Amino acid sequence: MEIKKGIGVSPGVTIAKAVVLDAEEYRIAQKTVSVDDIPAELERLRSGFDASLAELHSLQEVMARQLGPDIAAIFDFHYGVLSQDRLFEQIASLITQKNYSAAYAVREVLRGYQRRFLNMKDQLLRERVRDVHDIERRLLRHLCGQSGEELTLLAEPFILVAHDLTPSQVANLSQTKVTGVAMDVGGLTSHAAIVVRSMGIPAVMGLKDVSTRVSKSDTMVLDGTKGLVVIRPDTDMLQEYRVEEERIHALASDLIELRDKPAVTTDNIKITLLTNIEFPYEAKACLEKGAEGIGLYRTEFLYLRSEVEPTEEEHYEAYHAVIQAVGGCPVTIRTLDLGADKYTQSQAREPERNPFLGLRSIRYCLQNLDLFKTQLRAILRASVEGDVRIMFPLISSLMELRQAKIVLGDAMEDLEEMGIPFRRDIPVGIMVETPAAALQIKELLREVDFISIGTNDLIQYTLAVDRSNERVASLYTASHPVILRVLRDIIRAAERAQIAFSMCGEMAGEPMYTLLLLGIGLRQFSMAPSDIPEIKKIIRSASIAHAVRVAKRALSFDTDRQVSNYLRDETRKIWPEFM
Ligand code: PEP
Ligand code: MG
Repeated sequence: MEIKKGIGVSPGVTIAKAVVLDAEEYRIAQKTVSVDDIPAELERLRSGFDASLAELHSLQEVMARQLGPDIAAIFDFHYGVLSQDRLFEQIASLITQKNYSAAYAVREVLRGYQRRFLNMKDQLLRERVRDVHDIERRLLRHLCGQSGEELTLLAEPFILVAHDLTPSQVANLSQTKVTGVAMDVGGLTSHAAIVVRSMGIPAVMGLKDVSTRVSKSDTMVLDGTKGLVVIRPDTDMLQEYRVEEERIHALASDLIELRDKPAVTTDNIKITLLTNIEFPYEAKACLEKGAEGIGLYRTEFLYLRSEVEPTEEEHYEAYHAVIQAVGGCPVTIRTLDLGADKYTQSQAREPERNPFLGLRSIRYCLQNLDLFKTQLRAILRASVEGDVRIMFPLISSLMELRQAKIVLGDAMEDLEEMGIPFRRDIPVGIMVETPAAALQIKELLREVDFISIGTNDLIQYTLAVDRSNERVASLYTASHPVILRVLRDIIRAAERAQIAFSMCGEMAGEPMYTLLLLGIGLRQFSMAPSDIPEIKKIIRSASIAHAVRVAKRALSFDTDRQVSNYLRDETRKIWPEFM
C-alpha cells in the first residue's frame, strides 16, 4: 500500500481500478510519400483539419450545454489555431516540398511550435504547450486513427491516472465511466482542475510521480476532499474507505429528503444556507441542492477562460445569467480577487516574492482602475435585475474600503451619464478575511451594509500559515483558539452594530464547526453546494441553547487539539453517523 498526498482539487471519495494514461503517441507509419501521392496526402490533411474542426465545434456545443459557455470557451484557442490558413499552409508545404506524409508533417510543425512555447519566459505561455500538444494529437488521431486507451469504451468505472491532462482530455471524460482523476502536476487553478471540479469528479493533483507509481488495474482509493490517493490499499484502508463511500452515498440519499426542508434548529431558529460559485452555470444547481441564494460569486474565474480580459459585456452576461438562474434569490458578487494564486497575464509577467502578501484582490483593483470600473459597471447594470449585492475582498483598512466605494461612485456616474439604469442603493459589503479587518471591525461596520467572514484567508493571515502549502497544512486549522476568539469578536461587533453578517470560508461548510458557529451567533452560512446537506442535517438536529453551551466550552480551551476533539464529540452526540 502507498499513500500519496497531493492537492485535493475536487471533493469526494472513490474506489476503483486505475487506468494509467501513457503519453499518447501515434505511430506514424510513413515518413515520406512518393510524388504521385502528394495530392492524396494534401487531401488527407484537409480532411484531418476539417474533421478536427468539426469535432471541436461539437465538443464546444456539448460543453456549453453541459457546463456553460465559460468552460466551452477553453477550446477557443484550439479552434482559432486550427482554423487559421497559416498552420495548414506550413504543414502542406512540408508535404509538397519535402514529400513528407501528412501525419509526419503535422508532427514536425506542431512539435516545432511546442518547443517554441516551452522556451518562452512567460509561465502562462509555457503552459500553452499542452494545448498545442492537444491540437497535434487531435489531428494525428484523424490522420492515423485511434491509439492509446480508448476511455469511452471502458465498461467499468475507473480512476484516471496521468502525468498531465489537457482541457479537452478532461472535458471528454464526461462521456466515460471515470470516477476520479489523479495527476502528477496541476493545481487548483489549472484549466484541468476547473473543468474536473465543475463536472463533480473527485480529483487530486500535484501528486508529483503518481503516474509512475501506479500500474494499470491497480486498485486505488482517491479522496479528493483530503487530497490524497491510496495505491493498492490494504484491507483495513479499503474497508475504511468503503464505509466512507457508503456514508457519502447515504448522505446523498438524505439530500433528496432534506432538499425541500427548511434549515431550522430544533428550537425553531431559521438559518440561511447559501452557496459559493465560480461559474454562472453552477447557479442553478445551487438551488437544486437546497440553497437560498449565492453568498459568494468568485468572479475572478471569468479571467481563466481566456488570455484576454473580459469585456464589460462579458461580465454583465455572466452576472445576468446567475441572477436569472436563481430567480429572485440574493446574489453576492465579489469583485475580482486576482493575484496570489490567481494571475492575470500581466501579473504573471511580474512574479512577486510573496504573492499572498502582494498585489492581490482589492489592492490589484485599486491599482487597475479601468479593469475595476469595468466590472463595477457590469455589476451595477445587472443590479436592476435581481437581489444583487457587491462585496469587496481582502479589505485591510478603512481607506481601502473608502477608495473602493469612490470607484463604485465613479462607475455609477458613468452609467448615469449614459442613461443606463442601476440600483443606487445596491448593498455594499466586505469580506472580513484579514486580521486588520477583524481588529478594526467596529469602524468598518459603520461604512458597510453587510460583512462576510472569509475564514480561508483569515486563518492563513492570522496564523501565518500558507493555505496552499502542503508542508504546513497541519498548522492550518480553524480550531486554533485564536481563530475562535476572532470569529466571536467579529460576530459580536456585527450584532451590536446591527449589520448583516455571514461566513463564506470553507469553515462554514465543515460539519465539525456548525455547532460552534451557531453558538457564537452565525445565522447565514455560504458554502460549496456539496456541503449543504451535511450542514443542514446538523442544523436540523441542533438547538441554539446547546450550541451556545458548546461554543462557550470550546472557547475555554487552550489548544486546537482540545477544541477539535471536543467539537467532534459534540457533533457526534447530535449526529452519531458523523465520522
Ligand atoms: C476566504 O478567504 O475565506 C474566501 C471565501 O475567499 P477565497 O477562498 O476565494 O480566497
Ligand atoms: Mg479569500
